[in-house]
Amino acid sequence: MVETLRSSYDLIVVGAGPAGSSAAQEAARKGVKVLLIERRQRIGMPVQCAELVSKWIFRYVSLRSSSIVQSIDSMVIHLPDQTSLKIKSPGYMLDRSLFDKDLVIAAVLAGAEFSIGIKGVKMTEGGVLIQEGTKEEKKIGAKVIIGADGVHSTVASWIKQPPLKHLVALQYEIVLFEPQSHTDIYFHRDYEGGYAWFFPKGNRANVGIGITLSKTSGLQELLDRFLNDLKNAGTLPRIEILSKTGGSIPCEPRKQIVFGNILLAGDAAGHAHPITGAGILNAIVSGQIAGKMAGEAILRKDLNYLKNYETQCHDAFGDSLQYGSLKRNFLEENWNKKEVEFNQFIRKTWVGFKEYYEERRKDRK
Ligand SMILES: Cc1cc2nc3c(=O)[nH]c(=O)nc-3n(C[C@H](O)[C@H](O)[C@H](O)COP(=O)(O)OP(=O)(O)OC[C@H]3O[C@@H](n4cnc5c(N)ncnc54)[C@H](O)[C@@H]3O)c2cc1C
Repeated sequence: MVETLRSSYDLIVVGAGPAGSSAAQEAARKGVKVLLIERRQRIGMPVQCAELVSKWIFRYVSLRSSSIVQSIDSMVIHLPDQTSLKIKSPGYMLDRSLFDKDLVIAAVLAGAEFSIGIKGVKMTEGGVLIQEGTKEEKKIGAKVIIGADGVHSTVASWIKQPPLKHLVALQYEIVLFEPQSHTDIYFHRDYEGGYAWFFPKGNRANVGIGITLSKTSGLQELLDRFLNDLKNAGTLPRIEILSKTGGSIPCEPRKQIVFGNILLAGDAAGHAHPITGAGILNAIVSGQIAGKMAGEAILRKDLNYLKNYETQCHDAFGDSLQYGSLKRNFLEENWNKKEVEFNQFIRKTWVGFKEYYEERRKDRK
């Protein structure tokens, strides 16, 4: 509730997704006064995610077993020429809404204040204008602001940053009749710039397609056709849809993520992988670094310290995002070229294939 908030904090974190909660937790651990705000009425709802994370998540957060729906051991990559490749890909299918809530709880237990249903509206002299529903806007002071407000970041627009290049995805949650422990990825020329996925979640599965922005008008038809293909191939006996969701996935990291006393983290910084769209783990990692750097800068009374955020993010995952970006540019330039042998092309542009890493290996020689 707006009424119970202080008039100023050391740090305001806008957005309580994985990046924002992780940032709030790390900053609060340092002993600074943190306010974490979330504009939605329910944390993590509606879920706009396929909910797959790699096993490395355990390096960064302690997961409660209730937020893990099942383990994953491998990924099968299906190419249009009917060949497939099975790779080891250990990870977990999460219950994203529980997972996001647990991260908020961890931030609160570390000392952060959390306020739900509160929108960051505008930047003001020395703070942020916030609003609860249609109530009057209120100014809250802050020494540092972290924009962890997702791919269409409002905070980024406050500092006049351009919208991020992104893919658009549509996903159905369906009934899964036969449990499975691997994920499936499918490529097709029609899934321009992206791919289709089939991720099992116990007796359900997340099935979706993500493609470039210019092709989104045909997305629902593509997904319906994909599901029918799965049925015709015998993968599914029937199609029973439980819920529908979708959203945008950034596919190009921002070059600058520190702007005076403002940091951008997670999807707001374009930290999802440009090829796979996986963004949960990088959101947590960048959020944790942002929170630590903000906390430290506040304690040292030295905002120049915030610059370390950019360097540390680069050390943590910069190379992988930069290489992914090069691959995305190549992929977008060549997807529709008739002379391109499509199956070989996918092998060069999808992280699961050894061909993806060829230029990187050449660079290192
Ligand atoms: C369909 C789909 C499938 C995906 N599947 C996967 C997957 O399987 N694995 C994976 O790793 N990644 C996946 N991703 C990407 C992943 O969901 C994101 O990378 C991740 O959620 C980024 O976390 P974040 O904290 O940066 O942003 P978000 O999770 O988007 O959180 C931002 C929060 O900020 C809040 N907010 C926004 N504006 C304001 C404001 N002005 N004031 C207050 N609050 C605000 C929002 O309500 C939101 O809760 C998928 C994305 C989509 C769309």
